[in-house]
Amino acid sequence: MFKKSIILIAIILFAGHFANAQTISAPKDPHPEWSAPYQPFRIAGNLYYVGTYDLACYLITTSAGNILINTGLAASVDMINKNIKTLGFNPADIRILLTTQAHNDHISGMATIQRLTGAKMMVDRGDSSVVADGGRSDYALSNYYEPVKIDRLLNNGDTIKLGEARLVMLHHPGHTKGSCSFLFDVKDEQRSYRVLIANMPTIVTEKKFSEIPAYPEIASDYAYTLREMKKLTFDIWLASHSSQFGLHTKHKPGDKYNPAAFMDKAGYDSLLNDLQLDFSNKVKEK
Ligand SMILES: [Zn+2]
Repeated sequence: MFKKSIILIAIILFAGHFANAQTISAPKDPHPEWSAPYQPFRIAGNLYYVGTYDLACYLITTSAGNILINTGLAASVDMINKNIKTLGFNPADIRILLTTQAHNDHISGMATIQRLTGAKMMVDRGDSSVVADGGRSDYALSNYYEPVKIDRLLNNGDTIKLGEARLVMLHHPGHTKGSCSFLFDVKDEQRSYRVLIANMPTIVTEKKFSEIPAYPEIASDYAYTLREMKKLTFDIWLASHSSQFGLHTKHKPGDKYNPAAFMDKAGYDSLLNDLQLDFSNKVKEK
């Protein structure tokens, strides 16, 4: 009896110690702003911000259903659905799913939303294998996510149509092989706006460009993307991360509708110049 109790106590103590050790050793979320909530709002016309504090997700509403661009992390799906409802829309009305790049911080919730809505997933051809294998074939990162069933492959310049919406997909590879941006018009009671949702070509790999056999054309892809992005004209500029386009300096929760806050070509040009410098330094690595 005595022996049994000792063993039992030992087991309890050990289990407690183990649970403690787990809590202590669990890595701290390196990006708490990725999953922090953010108040959804109308950006311009039928374009809305429904993402988290930093992971931008965009809802474009039309008379034939809605388009969702990006999802944030898998655990943020409920938050995104709640954001959509807060704005007075129904997540079940999403018909088309798009992503600016197949990295886990933008696409991890896609499979769940696809199951919930039956929406069609459309992907830049360059990211098709990564989307289908949940990030396992990514050339740089190993942050996996649930694979997504692809309904349509998009090539540079392809148009995505739903109701009145017409989005042109622009192939902007480098960050991933199929990173892309979307260019489209929205309008409100006052005027129409040309909107660019840009995937900014930040560099993810720590390796030299010459040492990535999985992506031999990486340097020429970045060069192409930087060149093409500098040519674009638009009224409003947004990006995959809210920090990239300065959401939190341009807009505060509760601000009234003000599309002009996002008309910032100078900010876009300045970030592109920084990225051009990063790229030039990277290709110099021998
Ligand atoms: Zn990324």
